[in-house]
Amino acid sequence: MAIETVVGSEKKQALEEIAPGTSVTLDLRDPEAAAGQIVRLALTRPLAAVIPTDDDTAVVAAIASARLGLPHNPPEAAVAARRKDLLRERLRAAGVKTPRYRVTTIVSDPEPGAYDQPYPCVLKPTFLSASRGVIRANDPDEFVLAYRRIATLLRKPDVAERGGEAARQILVEEFVPGQEVALEGLLLGGRLKTLAIFDKPDPLDGPFFEETIYVTPSRHAPEAQRAVVETTAAAAVAIGLREGPIHAELRLNEEGPWVIELAARSIGGLCSRVLSFGTGLSLEDLILMHALGRDVEPLERERSPAGVMMIPILRAGILREVRGLDRARDVPGIVDVTISAATGQPLVPLPEGSSYLGFIFARGASPAEAEAALREAHRRLAFVIEPEARR
Ligand code: ADP
Repeated sequence: MAIETVVGSEKKQALEEIAPGTSVTLDLRDPEAAAGQIVRLALTRPLAAVIPTDDDTAVVAAIASARLGLPHNPPEAAVAARRKDLLRERLRAAGVKTPRYRVTTIVSDPEPGAYDQPYPCVLKPTFLSASRGVIRANDPDEFVLAYRRIATLLRKPDVAERGGEAARQILVEEFVPGQEVALEGLLLGGRLKTLAIFDKPDPLDGPFFEETIYVTPSRHAPEAQRAVVETTAAAAVAIGLREGPIHAELRLNEEGPWVIELAARSIGGLCSRVLSFGTGLSLEDLILMHALGRDVEPLERERSPAGVMMIPILRAGILREVRGLDRARDVPGIVDVTISAATGQPLVPLPEGSSYLGFIFARGASPAEAEAALREAHRRLAFVIEPEARR
């Protein structure tokens, strides 16, 4: 797109000396400080936009853009989208349907009576993503086990440091039954442009919540889809998001759509590859165009049904080998199979881990066909995982 970019990252880029001016090292753990570094950079290199790539950098970009006078999300809105407890508070205050919740501060063990509450419930950290640490509990015994497991995860040095105060809290929510959908959208000056609604056809009933299959367009009735769009738009207004990509996860049941998550970023991993707009533009193209003030209003997702499967890590160990890749790629409708986990490296399943083995991409004449291709390709794959202790 002939846009000059400067990449901001927390570690110095390997090629910084060879290509000076194309990267900048930012203290991303301190959003105010990182924003200050961006503002200083802009003194010598005027910036047209600051584009975040995840939940944490969304806060940095919002603060930096505010100081530079660029179109932006209010920093408080980006913070609320990143913190699950704040998100619940804002949504409930605005009357947007979202689970009832309470925040508990971690003590050595849950105090007696802490688990005296309606079941099933969901326990989770307030600041992690990719379902990391999200656990369903059906009774007080499971509550205590989940609580201890999350407390242990939050004590890990990297997690504790990233979370700060929030690493001492556990969010407890009512479990919302229903079918899950995801909405990918762009906020244009406070107005929601829906880019895609994905169905998540696998039952996500816990105890852990690995994301697997996303298929678009949605097979839900048009009224249900309209309700998803309206609820997501209301959620964005409730927390104050106005500009750029959003990714929402909602659950549908007889009471209508419930907002589980609203993030100020685009869909994660490599999933955006299933989306293509206008004449072959990517989701990232649209995000860049919008950030630079170009008109994305007329661009629509190309019609053909498509799906992606994030291949979950089902057990811990060292990945030794992936078999059946060619046979998986041969399945009609499969566009690509990408393995992102490295062989020889330890795999950490949910709820402690947050990564996937890889991604399968499919197209089909119908959403059902794309979904069937994903399932068949996954069936043909075999992951050789060696228990770590045996090394
Ligand atoms: P993350 O941002 O880490 O993905 P979420 O809060 O979105 O965490 O939870 C991950 C998944 O867990 C959701 O997509 C949903 O399937 C499930 N989940 C989380 N909270 C609830 C809840 N209160 N009721 C039902 N399912 C939930």
